[in-house]
Amino acid sequence: MPYCCHCGNQVAETDLYCRRCGTRQPAPPARPSPALSPRTASVLCYVPFVGWIAAVAVLASERFRHERTARFHAFQGLYLFVAYLIVEWVLRPLFRMLPGMHMRPDKWLGLALVALWIYMMIRTAREETTSLPILGELAEKSLAES
Ligand SMILES: [Zn+2]
Repeated sequence: MPYCCHCGNQVAETDLYCRRCGTRQPAPPARPSPALSPRTASVLCYVPFVGWIAAVAVLASERFRHERTARFHAFQGLYLFVAYLIVEWVLRPLFRMLPGMHMRPDKWLGLALVALWIYMMIRTAREETTSLPILGELAEKSLAES
């Protein structure tokens, strides 16, 4: 139970003014804002190259356990990263071995994935849930199983 900042009279936490002297009471200390909104967390899952860290954190955290949308984005962000790894570690060495390849598709794919990451960040920031082909279905499946 707080006290009036002016006269020391007891005031209820909900009182804006002291009942005895009428002094306006300072606003109660702001509650610690929820650390991370589901939307922000979802956007972070698509940060190019490092979004998977946020995705793992979302999936592991108690706070987002019941946030279906955030978990969907986390799974999809993870699979997008897996797609990137496949391009980097499988396709790139493969195409490097092929002689005379001037239009290296792996480079375009890598660029396309980065563009897709950014696109997903923008869409998710607008709270539009985009389900990507294949990756979105995988994410739905993982969501149902988790
Ligand atoms: Zn007072």
